[in-house]
Amino acid sequence: MRVGVIGGGQLARMLAIAAAPLGLRVLAFDPALDACTESVAPVDHGGFDDLPALHRFAEGCDFITFDFENVSADALAELSAMRPVRPNAAALATTQDRALEKALFRRLETRVADFAEISSADGLHTSAGELAFPAILKTRRLGYDGKGQARVESADGIAAAFAELGSVPCVLESRVRFQRELSLVGVRGIDGELLCYPLVENVHVNGILSTSLAPARVRPELESQAHVCAERLATALDYVGVFAIEFFEVDGRLLANEVAPRVHNSGHWTIEGAETSQFENHLRAVTGLPLGSTAARGVSCMLNWIGELPDIATALRIPGLHWHDYGKEARPGRKVGHATITAKDFDELAGRLEMAGQVLGREWQVAPALGVVSSHCAA
Ligand code: AMP
Repeated sequence: MRVGVIGGGQLARMLAIAAAPLGLRVLAFDPALDACTESVAPVDHGGFDDLPALHRFAEGCDFITFDFENVSADALAELSAMRPVRPNAAALATTQDRALEKALFRRLETRVADFAEISSADGLHTSAGELAFPAILKTRRLGYDGKGQARVESADGIAAAFAELGSVPCVLESRVRFQRELSLVGVRGIDGELLCYPLVENVHVNGILSTSLAPARVRPELESQAHVCAERLATALDYVGVFAIEFFEVDGRLLANEVAPRVHNSGHWTIEGAETSQFENHLRAVTGLPLGSTAARGVSCMLNWIGELPDIATALRIPGLHWHDYGKEARPGRKVGHATITAKDFDELAGRLEMAGQVLGREWQVAPALGVVSSHCAA
């Protein structure tokens, strides 16, 4: 069976790699002629809103999914008349718009940061209402990895930030003083079964994920708050496939930040660190196969390689390190690969992370994860 993935980036590439043992084939669709999935699976080329090209692509597939939330939800809705599209187009439409997403969270009784919708340059102060500053202005659509965001220190700064982001519809969000950033990766099957990976602790640098530590050490109440949120969300959206919810932890409670309707960077550790990887589980869900266990195997830390890769020969000397080169050209701010360091427990992980920081000259990158791991060891 053939699974068509709209988008041909590293997520489609890792889906294609996970597809082979299941006897599935991935075909990708991407406008970029150098899409990094190309080296592991065929890629058709066309714009994400080029309906004739998408139709031709869908004809060669048994199921359709996507690795990127900025594909056209209208185009996906059209394709769903031809082939099963999972997750569904309406779920994509909701999660690609920050205002709709936040409204849904509120309807499902999940807390979000205070926010206001900013739609035009007129009456900015009125639109902001009683919102507390400092705040962050975010475009409603098409933002990712910290792009499409501007910091706003006071109400007087909204106009400049709105212009800086291109005067497109935005949400203005109070800046949250969080203790930690956590994320939950879940998968829902066609029969409605929902499985969740353990919560993961994430560190972002310049709005881009830098490290993920799995499992996060959290109280059981927090894990169950996240599960309740995931269950309500996935049920409300009639979701099929893998999704991620990013949370802020504030005074022992979770605040939802955003949903990614796809496999997620904070789930890459599952390739080596869980019984079934997020990529395999997404393919199982999309093709109607039974889901696999989401239990962690030991503990893991994922390090993202942003801009350029460290030296592979040095990295591979680190025990428990698993290397992923996406085959992309080095470029500032670009995700070009990652590594997951696995270990049987936090003590062993601390030693391996320390070594990684030293030999790769990445002390700055491992330091936050190492701080958390060391506190786990001391506890
Ligand atoms: P996002 O694109 O919404 O995931 O934002 C990227 C990153 O910016 C998040 O992972 C946080 O580190 C930070 N961030 C986003 N929104 C807020 C907020 N309301 N308060 C504080 N930090 C935020």
